[in-house]
Amino acid sequence: MRELPGDEQPVTILVVEDEENIRFSLSSGLRREGYRVLAVATGEEALDAARDESPDLILLDVMLPDISGLDVSRLIRRDSDVPIIMVTARDAEADIIGGLEMGADDYVTKPFSLGVLLARIRANLRRKGGGETDLRERISVGSVTLDPESYTARAGSETMDLTPRLFELLRFLADNLGDVCTRDRMLDVVWGYDYVGETRTVDVHIHWLREKLRAYAPDLVLETIRGVGYRLVVKPE
Ligand code: CA
Repeated sequence: MRELPGDEQPVTILVVEDEENIRFSLSSGLRREGYRVLAVATGEEALDAARDESPDLILLDVMLPDISGLDVSRLIRRDSDVPIIMVTARDAEADIIGGLEMGADDYVTKPFSLGVLLARIRANLRRKGGGETDLRERISVGSVTLDPESYTARAGSETMDLTPRLFELLRFLADNLGDVCTRDRMLDVVWGYDYVGETRTVDVHIHWLREKLRAYAPDLVLETIRGVGYRLVVKPE
């Protein structure tokens, strides 16, 4: 189980989502990452669970059948400072602004990949833990610095020309620097829990990413681990 630093208890996430298939896949994705998950389908249940179970973080859908997610957020905020990440439809700007005004800490727009959501969850948990205040912290690996907020990767003074997908792939590999990453896991995290694809997709993107690394950051090497997956390593100069 994933634990907060200095905390004995597993990290509990309350998932509030009325669409059953999304609730199910979100919950199983988060459980695979080691979180304890409580999943509910209505605003009323969300208020009860927030009060009775003291979750460490709440993922809150805006469109719920009974009470709006915005009101749920406002009511929870009356007596709790638990991090709340609102989940809204793409480009529902009014929802986003409303959610932040009602006390939400962050938001993601549907559809999102599990990788993006996990990064937001980690950032919000860290912030709650009194650590860094940057919600979308930069990652440096070898000569490359990744800025998840702007989706840009810089190698020295150059900005790497990466598609958002290649950026996410590089970020995932950088997060797991030196560890072997399987194709299935990359599909899961980078392409999204509901992506129905083939591992061949991963191989093609790895090929493209290798070309980018050769051009911009030859100190970063993507090794193939035959029959298993790939591993990002930093080669000494
Ligand atoms: Ca909904």
